[in-house]
Amino acid sequence: MSTSSHSQGFGTKAIHAGQRPDPSTGAIMTPIYQTSTFVQQSPGKIIGEYDYSRAANPTRTAIEANLAALEGGKHGLCYSSGVAATGAVLHTLSAGDNVLLCDDVYGGTNRLFHRIFAQLGIETTLVDMTDLDATRAAFRDNTKLLWIETPTNPTLKIIDIAAVCELAKGTGARVAVDNTFATPFLQNPLSLGADIVCHSTTKYIGGHSDAIGGALIVNDDELHQQLKFIQLSEGAVPGIFECFLLLRSTKTLHVRMERHCANARRVAEHLIEHPAVERVVYPGLESHPQHAIAKKQMRDFGGMVTIYLKGDIERARTMLERVHLFGLAESLGGVESLIEHPAIMTHASVPPEQRAKLGISDSLVRLSVGIENVDDLIADLDQALA
Ligand SMILES: *Cc1c(COP(=O)(O)O)cnc(C)c1O
Repeated sequence: MSTSSHSQGFGTKAIHAGQRPDPSTGAIMTPIYQTSTFVQQSPGKIIGEYDYSRAANPTRTAIEANLAALEGGKHGLCYSSGVAATGAVLHTLSAGDNVLLCDDVYGGTNRLFHRIFAQLGIETTLVDMTDLDATRAAFRDNTKLLWIETPTNPTLKIIDIAAVCELAKGTGARVAVDNTFATPFLQNPLSLGADIVCHSTTKYIGGHSDAIGGALIVNDDELHQQLKFIQLSEGAVPGIFECFLLLRSTKTLHVRMERHCANARRVAEHLIEHPAVERVVYPGLESHPQHAIAKKQMRDFGGMVTIYLKGDIERARTMLERVHLFGLAESLGGVESLIEHPAIMTHASVPPEQRAKLGISDSLVRLSVGIENVDDLIADLDQALA
């Protein structure tokens, strides 16, 4: 049986952690335990560890343990979506609590905090967490949670996770980090002092644009029990087949991420030189304002590249209509390259003043660089920008 021993490398854990050959058949892949319930020996006396699949299911247990190992955490919990995982964290709070939310956060996260949990009496303060003084000043007596996303979407700002965790220390506020863009292969927030790691597994962890899902990873036993109770009570659990798809996906996460990072760097370096491009934002470039922090807390710089085009929105529209290999679509993190226009697509619900403040202009285009042959990707971008 493989264990999540810390001496093992990421790739070994990715393939083996939480899994072992099926004891009854020797099947090397964890079976899809497509069952809602489990028979009991006598009332209340269960045969193994399972009684009902909302509470727990062996296929889900395997992926939860696998993701925990990859993040260097003790406990994993899987959800039906990334926003369901986020919502579970918010359900640990009570009316009257305050949350500090980084200002350049995923649109669905922003909506959940401001449109759903605000009604339940949970107050949210938006903060630019790249500014540590502003973050320190934003704390209130009732601040119970800080929510960090880094790199941010779509401007790829980098927040210093260890520094923000240091600010929260002793205040009674927990720190949660949405690690979707970086993945556990590039960044492990728990080791930097965070209490909770959140993932939309829909993106890089799933990696094949075929399943919606979310996950939380924590170290604290009491917090784990609280989150497990919320998971059981609210029932936002993933389907069993989705758990199997994720088990299959995490086995190649390290290999995919290496190629995403290498391709994104090549694309970023190529576009810097391109006459149609005003500016390229990629945390791996020395020109990135938080490059030093990225270097400190990430192993590599990810697959997302943001560009500002010269010219107006029509220039951007033309580019997006002309690409062949890059799919014009929302979402990110799959093996296939995607391109999108945040001001019109993913961030359309962000008010124009807020978009302007965050730098999400009409000339901004976001690329999710896939793992195709990079020369083909560059040729596609060049012909679309010609
Ligand atoms: C997509 C995404 C989410 C939400 O995840 P879903 O799986 O779509 O519910 C949360 N955070 C980030 C950074 C994302 O990209």
